[in-house]
Amino acid sequence: MSMSAQEADRGIRILKERLDACDAVLVGAGAGLSAAAGLSYFDGEAFRKYYPDMYRLGWHYPYELVGRRDDEWTRGRKWAYWATHIHYVREIFPAAELYRKLLRVLEGHDWFVVTSNCDRQFFRNGFPMERVFEYQGNYDNMGCSAHCTTHTWNDHDALQRVLANIDHETFECREEGIPKCPYCGADAEICFRGEDWQQNADRYVRFLEQARDRKLLLIEIGVGYNTPGVIRWPFENIAAEFPYAFLVRVNTGYVQYPDRTGFPQVPRSLEGKAAAIDMDAAAVIEALEARV
Ligand SMILES: [Zn+2]
Repeated sequence: MSMSAQEADRGIRILKERLDACDAVLVGAGAGLSAAAGLSYFDGEAFRKYYPDMYRLGWHYPYELVGRRDDEWTRGRKWAYWATHIHYVREIFPAAELYRKLLRVLEGHDWFVVTSNCDRQFFRNGFPMERVFEYQGNYDNMGCSAHCTTHTWNDHDALQRVLANIDHETFECREEGIPKCPYCGADAEICFRGEDWQQNADRYVRFLEQARDRKLLLIEIGVGYNTPGVIRWPFENIAAEFPYAFLVRVNTGYVQYPDRTGFPQVPRSLEGKAAAIDMDAAAVIEALEARV
């Protein structure tokens, strides 16, 4: 059930008033933000087009592969998958205008972003990354599978070599295409959390400490129950514990999977400290940006 147009207007008005009156803004961005920008892990059409080998092998949309246990996959299969997926997310899918609109909404405020998204849309759209914490890391970080070093690196060329070495019959990367650690020669791996992860986590904590006794507006966008411990539950706790904090939760049902709701509700215990907007993130950000 989505909001009526009237309720939607009211929700956006509340959000705009809170934004104008706050001292600091903390945005929590989940997969729903990228989905609203067109990058959806439930997009079967894109999957068929850009992951054709995997489609032929019986998968239907990217989310089937997210967080799966791939113990039974060979190294070649793992790399074929990662290179195909990352190539789609990082190279084929463009930097999304919706993120730039969000940045314009935040300009002039003291703001910070925490995100569970690994897709690098904040980075690609010019967000100052000292104000963005990618809680679950991102697809650009490669590391050593033997952990000979804590150094992480971004190796676009290595992923291109994987793509060039995929055997399309078996959907496995041939041995000579598998990326290696430049230090010890063991296999490389996509490691998500880069060497700067802790430093970025510390920045997030500092922002929160400084916001504790200020008028902090929490804007949660497109965060469901896949990894609620990253943003959703912490944001509810912050709204409850910080005396002047207010949480606005923006979420709606998934377009491709109408039976999976976005869970826009806020707990009753947060009455007076939270509001829910059951609308697509794109509609909310565009309405706000039009009023900046
Ligand atoms: Zn190594």
